[in-house]
Amino acid sequence: MTARKRPLWRCPICGRTFVTRNMSHSCRRISVATHLAGKPPEILALYRFLHDRIRQIGPVTVDPQGRGIVFQVRARSIGLAPHARWIDMTLWLKRDVTHARVRKVDDYGALGRVLHFRITSEADVDPPLWRLMREAYAVGAQRATRS
Ligand SMILES: [Zn+2]
Repeated sequence: MTARKRPLWRCPICGRTFVTRNMSHSCRRISVATHLAGKPPEILALYRFLHDRIRQIGPVTVDPQGRGIVFQVRARSIGLAPHARWIDMTLWLKRDVTHARVRKVDDYGALGRVLHFRITSEADVDPPLWRLMREAYAVGAQRATRS
């Protein structure tokens, strides 16, 4: 069976689904509202903007976790963590990229990289970043990406 056809494993405790069986995770449930509580209106608007952009790419499951709100296609490949003055967005990509808003890269070797972007306004999502968001979505969908 190919990775694409393999059914997702569902955690019997929290019901979350994963590409890998017995995937280590926190079963704790947190609401999106918890992450947005107390944030200023411009951050709420920025969150809605980013959320809408992600949904424009294709269907996703929204999975709020301890450290942020994660967007799952098959795998979870896009994350948003709202703060008082910005939103940190993480994208799981399969290659090295450069972008002015990258502030940190976690290298997972053959699995790829998780890039951290600090987003302070809608204008930060420029065409190159929008392309990277779509690329991260494709990683989450486990479509063939360039190696
Ligand atoms: Zn669980």
